[in-house]
Amino acid sequence: MLTEILRLMRKARVTARGAVLLGETSTIDGHEQGRTIRVVTHIHSDHVLDLRRSIRECGMVVATPITHEMLRVLGYRIPPFKSVPVEYGNTLNIDGEKLTLLRSNHIPGTAQVLVETAEGDRLLYTSDFKLPGTPIVRDADVVVVDATYGYTEWMRPWQEEVEGLLVDIVKDALALGPVGIFGYHGKLQEVMLILRSYGIDAPFIAPRRVYQLTMVLKKHGYAIGDILLHGTREAREAMRDGWYIYFAHMRAKNHAPCKTKLILSGWEFREPFRRIGAGEWLVAFSDHADFRQLVNYIDEARPKLVIVDGYRGGRAAVEFAKYVRRRLGIPAITSPAPSL
Ligand SMILES: [Zn+2]
Repeated sequence: MLTEILRLMRKARVTARGAVLLGETSTIDGHEQGRTIRVVTHIHSDHVLDLRRSIRECGMVVATPITHEMLRVLGYRIPPFKSVPVEYGNTLNIDGEKLTLLRSNHIPGTAQVLVETAEGDRLLYTSDFKLPGTPIVRDADVVVVDATYGYTEWMRPWQEEVEGLLVDIVKDALALGPVGIFGYHGKLQEVMLILRSYGIDAPFIAPRRVYQLTMVLKKHGYAIGDILLHGTREAREAMRDGWYIYFAHMRAKNHAPCKTKLILSGWEFREPFRRIGAGEWLVAFSDHADFRQLVNYIDEARPKLVIVDGYRGGRAAVEFAKYVRRRLGIPAITSPAPSL
């Protein structure tokens, strides 16, 4: 058993620069010299590490079609002969290894990555995810897991109810005037989809980058409804009417034209909503698994070895690996190893 664990530990790791290495050929969400395939699981900044270097040095860049298009909006220029869009469930065969992108519930376009080695080992990287909606891969030998919320107290027991509460607060606020919603790329679009699914049909207005990222999703069939580019005549008209929802990156929250501001935060564990100023609310909306969901994933997947991403998880990764070993009885390590 121990020799088997030691053997698997050589098949997968996370480097000190945040690259997730599964098997021999691919480098995921970070760069590693000598690897020929760069995989991007999604567009969040801690998953596009050293991407420009990978574009120069790797033979191909693999991502879902949506992620590829979003990368273009964010200014990454991948030459067409290196750009390899892969749909969920499709497999690439490279030098005896099979690489498959699997669905994930995080931001649109996000993928889990499964690599099957020439020896038949199945190595999975979950990347960022939340439950439900992320298929749990049950027959992997190694699972490399994101543990952003790896501490036992990092739970949001109300997570399932936040959507409904968010919709109520937006409806009430719209009666008073324009509403601004601020968060990171991807999360904003998730909220747009939720509001539309609950029948909120006020026009959305967004600055250029948010607008362009949203248009990628519209093109792929997401039900976003009307969205207007800030500064255009249509947007100005809607703003004169005073009935609209303005979506912008966290950074832009101080100069957005809105009566009520909702700030989407993944770091609230006490309550789903908190008033933080006149007309300003913090909403506990996260696109990451909380502690309880992380445990669910690992407990159901039951791999032979769990590798917790220590680059992105920090101390929480160390704590989570400990929990997995002690409470779930599954061998677990942190990679890269924590500095003492
Ligand atoms: Zn993410």
